Amino acid sequence: MQETLTWRQAIAQQWYLTKFCFKKTPGFMMFHLFESIEIQISIFIEFTWMVNYILTAVEQGEDFRKILTCMGILIVFFGFFTIPYGLYHHYVLPKNKLVLYQAFCMEIYGKAKEIDLSCYDDKEFYETFILATEETDRCIDRYLSFSYTLAGQIISVLCSVFFCVYINPIALLVVAVLLPLELICVTQENKKTVEARMERVSHEQKREYGNRVFYLSDYAGELRLYQQMKGKCRADYEKSNYSIRSVNQQFGRKLFVYGLIHRVLLSSVVKEGAVWFILLYQMLVLRVLSGAQLVTSRSCIFRISNSMNNIINGCRTAAENAAYVYRIREFLQMEPTIVSGEEKSVPEGSGRLSVEHLDFGYLSGQQVLKDVSLTVEPGQKIALVGYNGSGKTTLVKLLLRLYDPDGGKICYHGKDIRDYQIMAYRRSIGSVFQDFKIYAATLKENVLMDVEDGSREENYRVEQALYDAHFMLEDNRLSYQIETPLTTEFEKNGINLSGGEAQKVAIARTLYRKQNLIIMDEPSSALDPLAEYRLNQELNEIARDKTVIFISHRLSTVRDADSIYMMENGRIVETGTHEELLMQGGKYAEMWKIQAGLYADAGA
Ligand code: ADP
Repeated sequence: MQETLTWRQAIAQQWYLTKFCFKKTPGFMMFHLFESIEIQISIFIEFTWMVNYILTAVEQGEDFRKILTCMGILIVFFGFFTIPYGLYHHYVLPKNKLVLYQAFCMEIYGKAKEIDLSCYDDKEFYETFILATEETDRCIDRYLSFSYTLAGQIISVLCSVFFCVYINPIALLVVAVLLPLELICVTQENKKTVEARMERVSHEQKREYGNRVFYLSDYAGELRLYQQMKGKCRADYEKSNYSIRSVNQQFGRKLFVYGLIHRVLLSSVVKEGAVWFILLYQMLVLRVLSGAQLVTSRSCIFRISNSMNNIINGCRTAAENAAYVYRIREFLQMEPTIVSGEEKSVPEGSGRLSVEHLDFGYLSGQQVLKDVSLTVEPGQKIALVGYNGSGKTTLVKLLLRLYDPDGGKICYHGKDIRDYQIMAYRRSIGSVFQDFKIYAATLKENVLMDVEDGSREENYRVEQALYDAHFMLEDNRLSYQIETPLTTEFEKNGINLSGGEAQKVAIARTLYRKQNLIIMDEPSSALDPLAEYRLNQELNEIARDKTVIFISHRLSTVRDADSIYMMENGRIVETGTHEELLMQGGKYAEMWKIQAGLYADAGA
């Protein structure tokens, strides 16, 4: 991945941000730049032009009242401009910044939603994504600060240059000679700053992970029980801090040297010395400069120098910003490889699902599914079983088209699933994942997971889905029934669900939608055996006409399936009904015996 950009690329990123900000908040941007320009013009008039006017007037013996009137008019005029600025800084700026943050973030989140799940397996992608989300607000801040600086300081330089040309053009030569040298120093400093940031990214990610482990409640219980893991996490956290410190130290030394050459040697000693020498020589030896001209020339040169430094520093920040924006845009330009098909909708009703010679491997390279074939007739209930890591969940991800296979195909209703529009296809399947999430929203929203119409009918259907999933709606913690907020993170009246209750909500999501194909990955793993048995009875009843594929570790839950597929090392090694498989006396029978033995032991 590119770490430092060429000037052309850096300018392209600024141009992108300029277009973005002007498109989203045109009025604010105009005022933002106007304010910076106006302030610099006021400063120039007050501290350079007016000083020159007063000193010249004094040298020429002008009338005191005339000078005072002129000053008074200018002070009132510029004072008038300060009134809207308070409004701008306390109201307009914070409001519009937020609009820009949100718009930029939404582009990233929008992209993240459409990008393939496989991208998350790619370390480089993940780093770019994390960096993109972390840096969006700061990118906007840095751009606003840069555009403000650039507009104001360019005006400041122009005013001072023109005035200096008018009063004392020779003095400008010093600035003109030293400026390119300063630019070289600043460019080097900038390169090192960006390199340092890039080198810190992976350590900062680990540090962030360490932070999460220690502050998220998800980890709190286990960490209290397993001291060794706590110690490891702490050691990793310390290690990442140490790595960040050493990167800072390593680059800090170089940055210090560049700063020394630039700020101390060039700017302070060489430039200041040369300016004072020329001005005093003009005034005292050549006698071509008056006192007023000396003061004004010095002021102009100071302002040119100062503004150029501000511009250069601004450009440095902008170049650093450009590197981030470049990576954000790289992310925004990523195209999903899982492309949507032409077919707008999936036919109504249950259809045959056939998996034909499927091969698949994640980015890490190892082949996870090998020549997997199976057919599920409409209304059939099939189960995928096997030990951990045999490829069951991976097969489900392919069925849902979260990944595309490397070889073979999946057909639904007689068509390759790649021919359907991706969202239409995914919507036609009800799925419950092992790693489902409960969101900080109401119980109803957690079941709907989609746009709600607020109708009575909708509420009734949500309640029915929860009821069918055996969720206890009579629970007296549900003070607002289905409107009760879940999680206590933001709501005082919220409730936290147990693992089993949460799983029932996830099942209710699927039941609410009434799809004809239901895929459940360990749907009842968090339930106790009795609750699991009851739920399975219920699910069999509800899903009587539907096609159901489910994965379960507990073989007792799959024994009624029409067909059971035993997976091992990414292959289907046995197929049949529970009885047939037991008769075969193969892997399934072996697994059944082990589990039956465990239950017998537990019962004994
Ligand atoms: P099962 O559901 O049978 O437990 P999985 O389908 O989850 O098995 O995993 C099958 C294999 O694929 C395992 O070796 C697992 O480590 C690997 N695997 C799963 N997800 C990923 C991923 N995102 N990236 C790389 N390998 C993965």
